[in-house]
Amino acid sequence: MGFFGAGLEPVVSHLADTTRVRNAFDAARIPLGMGIPAERIDRLQDLAREATAEGDIDRAREYVRLARRIGERHRISLQRRFRRFSCDDCDAYLRPGATARVRLRSGHVAIRCLACGATARYPYEG
Ligand SMILES: [Zn+2]
Repeated sequence: MGFFGAGLEPVVSHLADTTRVRNAFDAARIPLGMGIPAERIDRLQDLAREATAEGDIDRAREYVRLARRIGERHRISLQRRFRRFSCDDCDAYLRPGATARVRLRSGHVAIRCLACGATARYPYEG
């Protein structure tokens, strides 16, 4: 009889198998070239967005700068989505309605950083 008692052993081993299968599935979903650094950048993006929502623009800047450093060190380009949502001039995380004003123009999107006033333009897609 094992630690959990005879009746529970099959359940426990089933749970362990389920976890293993799920981990393998998650690993398989990560595109080639993605790895831990990319996941850390994703996490930093979440933190920057949350800090901005709480009005802490400086803390959000620290997350943005850290994410940029990780990207440079590991030679991975920050996902376009992240680049577009951080200000090149002052590193503020650009959250529409909080730190950014977004305007659709013909052929491009103009994103104005409300922290420093810089405007970045990106080609409009879709
Ligand atoms: Zn700015």
